[in-house]
Amino acid sequence: MIPHVLPTYNRAPIAFTKGEGSWLTAEDGTRYLDLGAGIAVNALGHAHPALVATLTEQAGKLWHVSNLYRIPEQERLADLLVANTFADTVFFTNSGTEAAELAIKMVRKYWSEKGQPERVEIICFEGAFHGRSTGAIAAAGSEKMVKGFGPLMPGFTHLKFGDHDALRAAVTDRTAAIMIEPVQGEGGIRTLPDACLKGLRDLADSVGALLVFDEVQCGMGRTGRLFAHEWAGVTPDIMMVAKGIGGGFPLGAVLATEGAAAGMTAGTHGSTYGGNPLGCAVGARVVEMVADDAFLDAVRQKGARFRQGLEGLVATHPEVFEGVRGQGLMLGLKCKAANTDVVKAAYAEHLLTVPAADNVLRLLPALNIDDADIAEALARLDRTASRVKADAA
Ligand SMILES: *Cc1c(COP(=O)(O)O)cnc(C)c1O
Repeated sequence: MIPHVLPTYNRAPIAFTKGEGSWLTAEDGTRYLDLGAGIAVNALGHAHPALVATLTEQAGKLWHVSNLYRIPEQERLADLLVANTFADTVFFTNSGTEAAELAIKMVRKYWSEKGQPERVEIICFEGAFHGRSTGAIAAAGSEKMVKGFGPLMPGFTHLKFGDHDALRAAVTDRTAAIMIEPVQGEGGIRTLPDACLKGLRDLADSVGALLVFDEVQCGMGRTGRLFAHEWAGVTPDIMMVAKGIGGGFPLGAVLATEGAAAGMTAGTHGSTYGGNPLGCAVGARVVEMVADDAFLDAVRQKGARFRQGLEGLVATHPEVFEGVRGQGLMLGLKCKAANTDVVKAAYAEHLLTVPAADNVLRLLPALNIDDADIAEALARLDRTASRVKADAA
């Protein structure tokens, strides 16, 4: 008999009842150190007092009114995002995949308004993940996500990650946009080198195509800059954001330049819940805290410290780990053992990690994880590796 909850997830048999900072308490009272942060969502950890205060204060005033009216909390969050990024304008969604949908629609509208409605080709990359809506799975194009869901939305070209010749050949005056994650998350914490991001910007400019960055996972301070593309010193025309921006409250956004968004006039797009006062009040608090220079500097320092410890673990356990990837607190351990076995062994050490493609173990702790918890995480990962070795013997 089918479970009452549609069984589309491979769930671990653990349920949590309470969270505090980087720690989660399971039903049986066991405390787990959380290096997944709800897949880069709980940017400030669980139950951060400032976010709880903002949420409860807003909850007592107003949750939802609809976009039929002005929403001051939405305007305030948009002001903050515009002040801190390349963007001139922001649309709010409830998730990353909804942001992908709007990014795709915005690209199409842009060319339609320019009198080239046939210019719809968006270049995407193998290993990409943009969400689970029909547009987002067509954009990512991986067999695993699209199988059985055809016919897919047309207009996407998929290139191998890092194949520069194929890329140069693919970008033509029919290219509407190039869409890419500056650091692939689900794809295995694969960082696009700064030179490649710059090259993509130049390539897009050479044919007038739009550049779209998906920073749903790598954005909001995760790499030690507010957005990952800042490391390369290039800016996109359109950017998708979600995950960390709500600190755990469902919230996403599409940021765009005035030029890229020009066709998106009244009536061209909408969302019932998107940009509701509750989500935007929380989002504004998160952005205020994460966009702070001292906060981001601390993320870089924590990331460096964590990374150094991880390099040590690779040296100690070469049978289990192969190398460290990523930037800031978006880190990946390339595994030699099966990454899913490592995730399971970590559960036994009461440590939460997240598997990714390319046999990588993702480590995405709360951005404010403290030094003692980083040390504890390294100790538990060390024991996890020993456990994997013992299980294999
Ligand atoms: C998680 C993710 C998405 C999809 O976000 P949802 O909120 O799950 O729809 C899109 N892009 C990237 C890079 C992601 O990591």
